[in-house]
Amino acid sequence: MANKQTVLIVEDESNIASFITTILTANGYAVLTAQTGSTAMMLISSHSPDIIILDLGLPDMDGQNIIKSVRSWSQVPIIVLSARTQEREKVNVLDMGADDYITKPFGTSELLARVRTALRHASRVGTNEGLGQCGKFVSGDLTVDFDKRHAFVAGKDIHLTQNEYKLVALLAQYAGRVLTYDFLIKKLWGPNAPNDNQILRVNMANIRRKLEANPAEPKYIFTEIGVGYRMVEGD
Ligand code: CA
Repeated sequence: MANKQTVLIVEDESNIASFITTILTANGYAVLTAQTGSTAMMLISSHSPDIIILDLGLPDMDGQNIIKSVRSWSQVPIIVLSARTQEREKVNVLDMGADDYITKPFGTSELLARVRTALRHASRVGTNEGLGQCGKFVSGDLTVDFDKRHAFVAGKDIHLTQNEYKLVALLAQYAGRVLTYDFLIKKLWGPNAPNDNQILRVNMANIRRKLEANPAEPKYIFTEIGVGYRMVEGD
């Protein structure tokens, strides 16, 4: 196949690197691997991968420096491999320009979904992404109609307030990707809004009551603890 998309895996733990390689190869991706930051930087400039999966703890440098350096000249999607406990780090890497993270340990379907989502958003940059989004987002019984600015569950309008709609629309627009609390607050209430998650939490509780059959076990909008929210991928 000539049009395989190339994934660069930057990870010094060989069992994780080979786990990811096996999954991606079996699903039609071409794979490059690097065990150090310097090899990674070399491969990024020589092979222009379509996406990078990056472990932060590398033997020769902090992966965050790779994000910084790559973002100064390239928009290639970067997915960071992260430890479950490091919420602050997840927020940092997203702020630095990483597209997403995967928390270790992760499974096959989660890895493939993250890669798919990041590649899809990358191919859309500069086209229809932005707040002027039109059309519809559909996942299961949920429909977000960007033209009517309403959301529906099983065809019934769930009557979101303006702010609730904006939140749902943003998450739908970036479906499959985590959006940080800070990003959402700035988008909804402007660049000078205080970084106060409480108001976001109140809105989300109301949204879930309207949208989810069981708000305690959401099917559509997931909480990424300490980081933000993620909408399920569209159909
Ligand atoms: Ca490592």
